[in-house]
Amino acid sequence: MELRLYDTLSREKRTFVPLDANNVRMYVCGPTVYDFAHIGNARPVIVFDVLFRLLRHLYGETHVKYVRNITDVDDKINDRAARDFPGLPLNEAIRKVTEQTGKQFHADVDALGALRPSVEPRATEHIAEMREIIEKLVAGGFAYAAEDHVLFSPQAMNAANSVLPRYGALSNRSLDEMVAGARVDVAPYKKGNTDFVLWKPSKPGEPSWPSPADIKVEGRPGWHIECSAMAWKHLGEHFDIHGGGIDLVFPHHENEVAQTCCAFHRERMANYWMHNGFLQVESEKMSKSLGNFITIHELLADWPGEVLRLNMLKTHYRSPIDWTMKSLEESAKTLDDWYRVAADVVPGEPAASVVEPLLDDLNTPQAIAALHGLRGEATALSGSLRLFGFLSESAAQWEGRKQQASGVDAKEVERLIAERTAARSRKDFKESDRIRDLLAAMGVAIKDSKEGTTWEIAR
Ligand code: AMP
Ligand code: ZN
Repeated sequence: MELRLYDTLSREKRTFVPLDANNVRMYVCGPTVYDFAHIGNARPVIVFDVLFRLLRHLYGETHVKYVRNITDVDDKINDRAARDFPGLPLNEAIRKVTEQTGKQFHADVDALGALRPSVEPRATEHIAEMREIIEKLVAGGFAYAAEDHVLFSPQAMNAANSVLPRYGALSNRSLDEMVAGARVDVAPYKKGNTDFVLWKPSKPGEPSWPSPADIKVEGRPGWHIECSAMAWKHLGEHFDIHGGGIDLVFPHHENEVAQTCCAFHRERMANYWMHNGFLQVESEKMSKSLGNFITIHELLADWPGEVLRLNMLKTHYRSPIDWTMKSLEESAKTLDDWYRVAADVVPGEPAASVVEPLLDDLNTPQAIAALHGLRGEATALSGSLRLFGFLSESAAQWEGRKQQASGVDAKEVERLIAERTAARSRKDFKESDRIRDLLAAMGVAIKDSKEGTTWEIAR
């Protein structure tokens, strides 16, 4: 069985062949930590967690290295720090914002059942690597300093007659068209209107570091160079998989490729470029102004993380996803059922019927359909669900949490059920119906069988 992955660069599904099967390497762009992560941000986290788990299953747990960065230097962070901590010096305020948001992000993604990546590098801890790449780019004639900025020239890259890829290849754009379509009010220090920033001067009070390229004033990195530096430090000049949301293909990933390939004279940065589709809410684009902006944190107050995880994986990662309440309710019911059947059994090997669709470019909807088909084989279901990152709790913990969340008092329910059983045995059906309706009004569903009466929270 071989793994096939869709590669954004070649625009086709290709058999995955790692550069080194003992050290399979994947980089995914992580969050910019200035606010609660929204449910759209959860999509790459969950999708690439499934891939991480699958790669570990195929190549062995210790043979996969997954790097997901934390962007902790950014204008949005500076703005938030100034707004939330006006009394503090900006740098201290920034540290507070990134610490709090980083912790919140971890709490959220842990609850979603995502394994921690092997390394979570922070941009501010890789400034030396960024400077080193920038120096290489300047020395190679791909970048230049102007008015205390360092700029990368895509035109210099495409004029170089060498192994380098073509700027624009990843996002399938032509540089000539980009040049023709560029904004007219380009910053005066740019030689070409598609040149992008590698380094810029810091304003007073902003985080700053000694600059590269003989620039005398202190400065800070541009966004794209951060990922080139962190990927290089932890995965090398050339690695297997680079991922992120589809919105990152241009300019972020196009620029990452340009920086890394030009600095190291490489034909490629990553062998497979993978991008998840976008998430919208109840058929609308999620945005603060539309009032349908949902954070992971808010959703976790109402739903177990595994429900959010299943709900995300019901759609193939490259398709757009419509996040709806109805679909969440269905996902919750499915998990209730799986917990009852499979949570407390000793897991077997994941079933081939589940693994095979995953090997076909992470076809999670088909794998989930196969899980439904395994209901009669509890050990295989249990093992397969665990490969997906489900069943982190026992059946009792799952049910208990649901009761807690619903505010239902289990003792009171048991007492009412005993009363109803007594009423039924004396054939007082009026009373037994009254108690059943009372329980239903409390949100409790009951089921009578030969063994007695069982109950659960009706979602
Ligand atoms: P950001 O913090 O905005 O850079 O986003 C972090 C990650 O979330 C990136 O991989 C984005 O592509 C991804 N992302 C942001 N919004 C959405 C969305 N609505 N749907 C899917 N992915 C998203
Ligand atoms: Zn990135």
